[in-house]
Amino acid sequence: MLHCSFCGRSRDEVKILIAGQEGHICENCVEHAQEIIAQELLLRNEATTSNFKLNVKKPVEIKRFLDEYIIGQDEAKKVLAVAVYNHYKRLKQKTESEIEIEKSNIVMVGETGTGKTLLAKTIARLLNVPFAIVDATVFTEAGYVGEDVESTISRLLQAADFDVDAAERGIIFIDEIDKISRKSDNPSITRDVSGEGVQQGLLKILEGTVSNVPPQGGRKHPDQKYIQVNTANILFIVGGAFEGIDRMIERRIATQAIGFKSETGDNYDHENLYQYVSAADLRSYGLIPEIIGRLPVLTHLNPLSKNSLKRILTEPKNALIRQYKRLFELEGHTIDFAEEAIDAIVDHAFESKLGARGLRGICEAVMLDLMYDAPEGNKEHIVVDAGFVTKYLKKEKNKLKVA
Ligand code: ADP
Repeated sequence: MLHCSFCGRSRDEVKILIAGQEGHICENCVEHAQEIIAQELLLRNEATTSNFKLNVKKPVEIKRFLDEYIIGQDEAKKVLAVAVYNHYKRLKQKTESEIEIEKSNIVMVGETGTGKTLLAKTIARLLNVPFAIVDATVFTEAGYVGEDVESTISRLLQAADFDVDAAERGIIFIDEIDKISRKSDNPSITRDVSGEGVQQGLLKILEGTVSNVPPQGGRKHPDQKYIQVNTANILFIVGGAFEGIDRMIERRIATQAIGFKSETGDNYDHENLYQYVSAADLRSYGLIPEIIGRLPVLTHLNPLSKNSLKRILTEPKNALIRQYKRLFELEGHTIDFAEEAIDAIVDHAFESKLGARGLRGICEAVMLDLMYDAPEGNKEHIVVDAGFVTKYLKKEKNKLKVA
């Protein structure tokens, strides 16, 4: 019986076993070895020159690309497109100019499931830059249980396959930034290890610092060498639902009554207060002014209307309905969804208040039996109609009940 000479796994435990003169190596060990080599070269400053090439797109092109995957949110798309374009233009400028273009980190405010993560992800894919998503809820002040903010850089470096040059021009998306808001106005009362302390840590990497990233992989490093990553040119996009900020926005608008009312009266859109969000509101919410200052581009996402939900279900390149059609096609069936069936799904998702995120769960529940049976029996043409959907949704009623 052949074994990998490195990990000892036997022939049938691995996919590929490569023979050498004296022994064998499996695909896992090859991969692992490659990581070790990349890290080791980095630590010795002998890394092969980065083959990272920046792929700059114009705002119109960026927006067009985003349109293929994301429904609505036009303002956010435009703001992002311009900010990202300026960011990369700034990176490209060759000579040391007297005019220093400042980094355009972005903050997106919008209810959950309205497309914040999707926007950031889609942009990173277009630009083909390393991209990491982190959740601010795991952050604690350095030294406490949890991850400290610098671990985000480590994630980015991993996403860049340890190409430091690429990582230094990547994008980091920090989700749920609202969860690190200051818990009380008087920071001295209690220790606030997941609030202001974390914001201070975040401020450092937003401003640009040389972050020491420990090489991963659990190898012992007697003299713990670190990989140094400069964060000055990393673009940060942060997002959050900022639950309750709508009330702060409304209060602010109402107290600005003098100037405001004379111009527009009280006719601001009460249904979508997010569109009026300003830096002042983020501050009332508990982000420290220094952080807000480092996030100069502020945009909002609109709550999704029923119509948007319907479009999300059917229009984007990888829309859920298209995915199901393809799934059934692969089994040799054809499947169609009646308009009313789609409306029923949308109504339910709208009531569940999970944004577009609710759509997936509802579809899965509705489609379960069909998908269970699809590989069996005759190839057929299936039509999902409204009756079918409501039958399943009734069954699921308690699970999907609005809280
Ligand atoms: P958020 O980060 O705002 O909470 P996400 O971007 O993670 O929300 O959205 C969750 C899922 O919902 C996405 O993966 C996508 O499938 C869908 N979705 C949300 N908003 C949109 C949108 N505007 N257009 C298309 N799909 C969307």
